[in-house]
Amino acid sequence: MGYRAMQLNCYCGQAPDRILEVGFTSDRHMVVHFWCSACSRVLFRSQSLDECEQACPPTDAEAETQSAAEDARFLQSLGIAGS
Ligand SMILES: [Zn+2]
Repeated sequence: MGYRAMQLNCYCGQAPDRILEVGFTSDRHMVVHFWCSACSRVLFRSQSLDECEQACPPTDAEAETQSAAEDARFLQSLGIAGS
């Protein structure tokens, strides 16, 4: 499974120290409140479902196959699987 961290940046360019809260609005936006210690203020970022979807990394079937093979090798090395 691919994973991509959500990019949260303050206007000042600092990455947030803390995420305070994640919530949802009645118009189906995801909202993340975070704290910038450089500015000493709470900021928020809201994202629609469409924007969330766009932010998702592409499905990578090959990477999944590869990690499954690695898992199998790992289990084999432990003597758990292999037949
Ligand atoms: Zn800031």
